Amino acid sequence: METKFLKIDHIGIAINSLEEVSKLFPIISGIKDVEMEDISEQKVKVAMFKCGESKIEFLMPTSEDSPISKFINKKGNGIHHIAFEVENLEEKLKELKNLDIKLIDKTPRKGAGGKKIAFIHPHSTMGILIELCEHI
Ligand code: ZN
Repeated sequence: METKFLKIDHIGIAINSLEEVSKLFPIISGIKDVEMEDISEQKVKVAMFKCGESKIEFLMPTSEDSPISKFINKKGNGIHHIAFEVENLEEKLKELKNLDIKLIDKTPRKGAGGKKIAFIHPHSTMGILIELCEHI
C-alpha cells in the first residue's frame, strides 16, 4: 500500500547564531515557547518553535565539519530542508527504494524530539532536501 505524507512536520532552517534567532523569532512571530536540543551525532544545536500544526527548526552547527556548516558556508542562513510526517517510516523507505529513489538514510535514525527520521538524497529530488519523520 502506498503511504502518503501526512503533513509538513517542520521546516529546517540553517542559522549561524541560535542565540540571535532565539531572540528575533519570538519578536517576529509572537511565539515564545521554544525547545532547545543538542544533537551531538549530527553536530547541531536545534531550537524548535511550534507554529500551529507544524514547527520551525533552527539548526546551528556546533563544529566546522557539520553538514550545516558546509551549507551556511556555501549559501548563508536559509531554508535547509522540509520535513514531512509519515505514518510508517520503514514502510515508506521500502517504497522509495523500490522506486529507485536515492536515500541518505536507508534505515531510520533518531532525530530531534526523539522521533524517527530519514533523509531522501537531493539527487533524487531535484536538489531539494526532504526529511521524513515518524512520531513515536
Ligand atoms: Zn529536520
